[in-house]
Amino acid sequence: MNTHALTKKQRKTLKRILVALAIFFVLELLANVAHVFDALPAGWGLWAQFALFLVPYLLAGYDVLAKAWHGIVHRQPFDENLLMAIATLGAFALVFFPEAEPHMAEGAAVMLFYQVGELFESYATNKTRKSIAAMMDIAPDFANVEDDEGNLVQVDPATVAVGDVIVVKPGERVPLDGEVVEGKSQLDTSALTGESVPSVVEPGVAAISGCINMTGVIRVKVKAPYAQSTVSRILELVENASEKKARTERFITRFARYYTPIVVGLAVLIAVASPFFGETLTASVQSALIFLVVSCPCALVISVPLSFFGGIGAASRIGVLVKGSSYMETLDRVETVVFDKTGTLTSGTFSVVAVHNEDHIDPDLLLSYAAHAEAYSDHPIALSVRESYEGVIDQTQIENVEERSGRGVSALVRTHKVLVGNDKLMNEAHIDVKNCELVGTILHVAIDGVYAGHIVIADMLKPDAKEAVASLRAAGAKRIVMLTGDREEVAEAVAGELGIDDYRAQLLPADKVAEVERLLGETTDAGKLAFVGDGINDAPVLMRADIGIAMGAMGSDAAIEAADVVLMDDKPSKIAKAMKISHKTMGIVWQNIVFAIGVKIAIMILALPFIGIATMWLAVFGDVGVAIIAILNAMRALTVK
Ligand code: ADP
Ligand code: MG
Repeated sequence: MNTHALTKKQRKTLKRILVALAIFFVLELLANVAHVFDALPAGWGLWAQFALFLVPYLLAGYDVLAKAWHGIVHRQPFDENLLMAIATLGAFALVFFPEAEPHMAEGAAVMLFYQVGELFESYATNKTRKSIAAMMDIAPDFANVEDDEGNLVQVDPATVAVGDVIVVKPGERVPLDGEVVEGKSQLDTSALTGESVPSVVEPGVAAISGCINMTGVIRVKVKAPYAQSTVSRILELVENASEKKARTERFITRFARYYTPIVVGLAVLIAVASPFFGETLTASVQSALIFLVVSCPCALVISVPLSFFGGIGAASRIGVLVKGSSYMETLDRVETVVFDKTGTLTSGTFSVVAVHNEDHIDPDLLLSYAAHAEAYSDHPIALSVRESYEGVIDQTQIENVEERSGRGVSALVRTHKVLVGNDKLMNEAHIDVKNCELVGTILHVAIDGVYAGHIVIADMLKPDAKEAVASLRAAGAKRIVMLTGDREEVAEAVAGELGIDDYRAQLLPADKVAEVERLLGETTDAGKLAFVGDGINDAPVLMRADIGIAMGAMGSDAAIEAADVVLMDDKPSKIAKAMKISHKTMGIVWQNIVFAIGVKIAIMILALPFIGIATMWLAVFGDVGVAIIAILNAMRALTVK
C-alpha cells in the first residue's frame, strides 16, 4: 500500500491501527513468551491482562463501538458494526465465566484485523474511483479567447458563446466543441476513445472537446455551449452511472438487511439453547461469538458494487460509456444484436456515384435543386448531397422545408416544389420513377410534380464493421439482424458482405420499433436484445430495446440521451469488447458471492457447539481475509487486456 495514495483520514486511521498493533504484540510477547502474567498472584494476572488488552482494543475500535451505539440509538442497529461490537465485547466478557479460557487477546485481535480490512476496503474503493476519475480527467480548465487588442486571455469555458472563436495551443485540451477555422494540427483523441491514433484537423474539420491538441495552433469556431459539449455530456454520464444499480447489487443490499438480524438471532439461540443439550455455557457463548464474527457481510457489500464500478471503468477506458451497473448486467446476457445501417454499420458519408437526369433538365441544375431542398436536413444523406454540390446554397431561395423521416424532404426552391427522397416519397406523391440498375441509395428528385431524375449515392462500410459482426458472435451473440430504411438491394449487399443473419429493408422509423418488438418476442427469457443505432430516426428504438447502444461522436444528442451505452468513437467493434468486459465483471461478481458466502457458511458450521472446531482466529480470517480477497478480485474488473 503506497501511503501517498491514502487520504488524510485514512492515514490517521492507519497510524492509530499501527500503534494499537504494536501495543498488542508487546502484550502478546509479555503474556506468551515472557509469561509475566503467570508470575502475578492468582487472579491478578487475568485481570491485568484484561485491562491491558483493552488498550489496543479501544484504540483500534472505539469508532466501531461508537457507530454500533449510534445505530442502536437510531433504531437501525443491524449492521457490521453491531456484529463486531457484540463479538469482541463478548470475547472480553468471557473473563466473567470462571471456567472459560481467557479470550481478551482474540477480542482485541478481531477488532484490529477488522479495522485493517476496513482500511483496505476504503483504499480500494478510493483507488478505483480515482483511476476512473483519471481516465475521465478530460474537463478543460480554460479557453483562450482574443480580447479587443488581440491579446489572448484565458476565460472559463462556460462563458464562451456559440460562434466565438477560441485559440487552442499545442499541448492544450480542446475546451469546447467546434469547427477549425484556421491552422492545422493533430488531435489526440485517446481520452475519449481509448485509442491514441491522432486525427488530423484543418479548416472545416470538427474539433471535439476533451481531445488534446498536439502539434499546431488552431482557431476553433465554437458550435455548442459548454454545458452541451462532448466533455460535459461524458462527465455527466459517468457521474450518474452509479445510480442505476444492477439487480445483483440491489439483491446484495437487501440480503444484508435481512441477513444480519437472522445471524444475531441464531447466535443468541446457540448461546441460550445449547446448554440444554449438555454443552457448557462457556462453549455455547464462545460458539455464538465466533458465529457473529464470521457472519459479517462486508465482503459482499463492498466487493459487489466495486466490481461493477471497475467494469464500468474498464469499458470507459476503451471508449465505451456504460450508463449504469444494470446495463453491465444486461450486456452480459445479450443474445440478439440489431443494427441500424446508415451511420452505424456504414460511415454515413455518402459519395455521389451518378446523376441520372431526365432529358428536360441539366444534371447540375438537378443537383442544385436537390442540394437546396436538403439545405436544412441533418441526415447524412443531406450532408453528402450538399457536399457534392459545387455552387453556393442561397438560403433566400428556400421556403417551406419539410423533412419526412425515412422518406426524404420536400421544399419550395425558387418557387418550384421540389421533392427529394426514396420510392415511398414518390409513390405518395403519385410520381412515377425510373428504376436504376446501379446498386446504391437512390434519391429521386421531382420538380413541380414532374420526375426530374435521380442521384445515386453510395455509403462505405465502416472499416471495422465486418470484424464487429464476427467478434459479436465470438462474444456470445446468437442472432444478428440489420434494419434499414434503405433499398432492398443495398440492404442485401451490406448484409451479405458482413455476414449478418437477417435484414429488413425500406422500414420507416415506426416499422423499426415494431420489428424490434417482434424480435424481443423471439428472444429467450434470459437472453437480451441490444439495438445499435446512430439516433437519426431511431431514438425510439434505442429506448425500446433491452439495451440501446448509440454512436457518440456522430450520433445525435437525442440518441446519446436515449441510449444506455454510448460508443465514443462510433466503432461497432467496441460492442463485442464491452460485452467481454461485462462477462468478466459478472464472472467476478459471482465468484465473490459464492466464495464469500461459501467460506462463511463453512466456518459457521465448524463453529456450531457440537462440532466446535472453529476458533476465534479462524473467524477473523473468515471475515477480514474473505473481504480482502474479494476486494482484490473485484479490482481485476478494472483492467482491460
Ligand atoms: P437507415 O435506416 O439506413 O439508417 P433512415 O431511416 O435514416 O436510414 O432513412 C431511410 C431512407 O429514407 C434513406 O435510405 C433515404 O432513401 C430516405 N431519406 C431519409 N432522409 C432523407 C433525406 N434527408 N433526403 C433524402 N432521402 C432521405
Ligand atoms: Mg440511421
